[in-house]
Amino acid sequence: MPFVSGKDLLNHAFENGYGVGAFSAHNAETVQGIIQAAEEEQAPIMIQVGQKVINTLGMKPMKQLIEYYAREATIPIAIHLDHSRQFEQTMEAVQLGFQSVMYDGSAKSFEENAGTTADVVKIAKALGIGAEGEIGKIGGTEDDITVDEKDAMITSTEEAVAFVEATGIDYIAVSIGTAHGIYQKPPELQFDRIEEIAKAVKRPVVMHGGSDVPDEDVRRAISLGIAKINVDTELRAAFTQGVQAFYEASPDNYVLADSLGRGREEMVKKVKEKIHVFYSNGKAPLVLNDLNRDLETVKGEV
Ligand SMILES: [Zn+2]
Repeated sequence: MPFVSGKDLLNHAFENGYGVGAFSAHNAETVQGIIQAAEEEQAPIMIQVGQKVINTLGMKPMKQLIEYYAREATIPIAIHLDHSRQFEQTMEAVQLGFQSVMYDGSAKSFEENAGTTADVVKIAKALGIGAEGEIGKIGGTEDDITVDEKDAMITSTEEAVAFVEATGIDYIAVSIGTAHGIYQKPPELQFDRIEEIAKAVKRPVVMHGGSDVPDEDVRRAISLGIAKINVDTELRAAFTQGVQAFYEASPDNYVLADSLGRGREEMVKKVKEKIHVFYSNGKAPLVLNDLNRDLETVKGEV
């Protein structure tokens, strides 16, 4: 099994100046598409299980689906729980063996958010998995929670530092000008803030709402400290457009393997495109090599 701690994966990216795509999966074909693209590009990836799919298919079936299709992969993969708003649900993922979890208390007060996040971090650290937290409100709609543009505040460096100190979080999601979903007008990324936060917290920073952010902006953000880029909407759009194109060409073909297969093809292309934007193509052997070397070092010390 190719699974590694989300913390190891992102620290490697952060230290080596590239980004890891955190791609959201929604069904068997999207899981297959993400893994196929990453395998062919030899890219380390995170596969995200989000709230929508937990509500429909369930957390455990999704985890098992990913494990099944990843069983012969040669790339490092971390299965990640995206935007959990409950401590209990986050623990369920930990119990199921996710390699990375996000508890999102950003809608709560700083104290409440930091308190619960710190509890999650403590458990994640004991188990050697990665933990993501969020401070600041990211705009757009995610899992039926909408944050208006005026409420989407850019995270200050001070609150990011205070949050990291209070929680010990491994990687931090901040509000830096991106939003969930499709953009009405191009996002204005706060590059200075990204750089300042990454330098101050000295750990990977996460970009949410990575869909449709211009490639050059994503690359600039990566050069400043973004190491995990969440991509969901753009992949769903690619998948759906593939299925739509299929039905335009063959409206009477009801073989779902054919139509969904076409969606998967489009998704493979999109994931590959993103992997190249993030500079993570070809990085898989490097990650595995570096992680093994670290393990050897640890063994030598015992
Ligand atoms: Zn998000």
